[in-house]
Amino acid sequence: MRRWNGWGDETLRFPAPQPALAFLETALGPGTPPRDAALGDLVSQVPSTRLTRGVLLQTDPEVRLRHSLGQSLPDWVALRFGRVPAFPDAVAFPESDADVRDLLRFAAWAGARVVPYGGGTSVVGHLTPPAGEAPVLTVDMGRMSRMARLDETSGLATFGAGVVGPYLEAQLRARGFTLGHYPQSFDYSTLGGWVATRSSGQQSAHYGRIERLFAGGRMESPAGPLDLPVFPASAAGPDLREMVLGSEGRLGIITEATVRVRRMPEHEAFFGVFFPDWTSGMQAVRAMVQAGLPLSMARLNTAEETRTSLLLAGKPRLTALLRRYLSFRHIGEEGCLAILGVTGHPVHCKTARAEALAAARERGGLDVGGTAGRAWRKNRFRAPYLRNSLWEAGFAVDTLETALPWSRIPAALEALEGVLRSGLEPYGEAVHVMSHLSHVYPDGASLYTTYLFRLADPETTMERWRALKGMASRAVVESGGTISHQHGVGTDHAPYLAAEKGPLGMAALGAVMKTFDPEGLMNPGKLVL
Ligand SMILES: Cc1cc2nc3c(=O)[nH]c(=O)nc-3n(C[C@H](O)[C@H](O)[C@H](O)COP(=O)(O)OP(=O)(O)OC[C@H]3O[C@@H](n4cnc5c(N)ncnc54)[C@H](O)[C@@H]3O)c2cc1C
Repeated sequence: MRRWNGWGDETLRFPAPQPALAFLETALGPGTPPRDAALGDLVSQVPSTRLTRGVLLQTDPEVRLRHSLGQSLPDWVALRFGRVPAFPDAVAFPESDADVRDLLRFAAWAGARVVPYGGGTSVVGHLTPPAGEAPVLTVDMGRMSRMARLDETSGLATFGAGVVGPYLEAQLRARGFTLGHYPQSFDYSTLGGWVATRSSGQQSAHYGRIERLFAGGRMESPAGPLDLPVFPASAAGPDLREMVLGSEGRLGIITEATVRVRRMPEHEAFFGVFFPDWTSGMQAVRAMVQAGLPLSMARLNTAEETRTSLLLAGKPRLTALLRRYLSFRHIGEEGCLAILGVTGHPVHCKTARAEALAAARERGGLDVGGTAGRAWRKNRFRAPYLRNSLWEAGFAVDTLETALPWSRIPAALEALEGVLRSGLEPYGEAVHVMSHLSHVYPDGASLYTTYLFRLADPETTMERWRALKGMASRAVVESGGTISHQHGVGTDHAPYLAAEKGPLGMAALGAVMKTFDPEGLMNPGKLVL
C-alpha cells in the first residue's frame, strides 16, 4: 500500500544511518521529531462533497484525502501536520477516452474545476485543489494504463497515459523493448505526468528527455479532442506536441501517448570517478559530453554532496578505506564523485568507458571502479525513502533544480548555495546545502540542489521554507537559469515563469489556454497564475 503522508510503499523503511544523523545534528542542531497527524483525523476533516450527481465519481473521504496533494515540502507539511488546505470534492477513475470526455462535459455542466492526476509525485504544487466556491474534480488516470499498440518495426509504443513506470517497462520488456525513461519517481509517476511536466529520466543522455520520447498521442480538452499524429519528423509548421509537453493539466487531459522505444540494451554499467575538486570534475564531464562520448549518464556531485552521500550510504568501514586510498592518490576532502553510465552494445560501451576514463585522467580523475556505480544503481529509486526517515528525525529535505549554459554554472552554483546556506540566519538556524550536475548537454547542464533544515511547528517550518524557496528561485532567475529543468512550474515556480517567457510569451500561453479551455476549468493556478 502506498504511504499516504510521505514517500513510497508504507512497508518499506530505509533508516538514515546513525553517523549521518550525528553529522546533521552537529551541522543543524538536534532535530525534534514532529508528531504526525493520524490518517483518521485527516479523513474526519474532509468536508461534504459539493459534487453529488455525477457518474464515475468517488466521494469517499479517504480517496479524496489521498488525492489532495503531491510530494512537495508544503504538501508534506500539510499532510504530516494535519493542515490540508483543500480536498477535491470527488475523484474519478476513467477507463476510456469516452469516460474522460463525459467527465469534462460533466465538469462544465457543474462548473467544477478539473485537476488531472497521474502518480501524484509532483514536487512543485501541481495538484492542490483550487480554493473557492467552485467544486473540484480530480481525474486519476491510473486505470488507463494498457499498452494499446507496439509497432516493433518503427519502435513506437502507444499506452494509456495513466501507466506508471514499472508497468510501462514490464509491458515493453515482455516484447524485448524498453523506453528507458527513469525519473527517480519511476515507481509511481506516469507517462501522462511525464509529458505534462517535461520530465527527465536519469539516463537522459542515452534515451533523451520525455520531449524526445513523446511522439504523439491524444488529449481531451473542454474544447474537444486534440490528436497529435506520429511522424519521424515534420516541417508542417509549429509542432503541436510542444504545446502539450509541459501543459501541467491546464489544456486538457492526455489520454494516450505514443513513445519512441528501443530494443533492450545488451549491456549497461555504471562506474565511479573521483575528481580532486569540483572545477576539474566539471571540466571533465563537459569535455566528455562535448566530445560526443556516448555516455548514458554523467552525474557529478559537489564535495559536500560527495561527503553527505558517503555518510548516508551507511558503510563507514568501506568509506574509510576509500578515503585512505583517495588520500594516497592526493584526493582529499574536496574530492568530488562522478557516476558515469554506459548503455548499449558491449563494444561501444567498452570504448565509451575507456574514452571517458581517459578524459577524466587528463583532469586528475581517478577511476574507483564499479562498486560506486553498482551502489548508485541499487539505490536509484530508494534514496527518496531517506526523506521519510530524515523527517522522522526532525529534518526537512527539499530540492530545487535549474539548467544553465556551462559558462554560467560556477557563478550560479555559488549564488544559489550561498543564499540557501545563509538563508535562515535571521532565525538563528543553519541550512545544509549540497548539489550535483544531474543531466549534461553539450551547451550546459542541469544543477540540482538539496537543502536540509530543522523542522519546527508547521507555521514556522512553512515560513522558513518560503524564505528559502523565494531566495533560491530569485538566485536562479538572476543567474540566468531556467526556473525548472525537470520538475515543472506548478504553483511554486509560477511567479518566476514570466522572467523567462516575457510578456508576449505569457500572453501567447494564456491565449492557448483560452482556446482549449475557454471557461478556465483546467487546473487553475498552476503554470500560469
Ligand atoms: C522522489 C521524487 C523523485 C523525482 N525525480 C524526478 C526525476 O528524476 N525527474 C523528473 O523529471 N521529475 C522527478 N520528480 C518529479 C515528478 O515525479 C515528475 O514531475 C513527474 O513527471 C510527475 O508525474 P506524475 O504522473 O506523478 O504526475 P502528477 O504529479 O500526478 O501530476 C503532475 C502534473 O501533471 C498533470 N498531469 C498528470 N497526468 C496528466 C494527464 N494524463 N494529462 C494532463 N495532465 C496530467 C497534473 O495535472 C499536474 O499538473 C520526482 C518527484 C519525487 C517525489
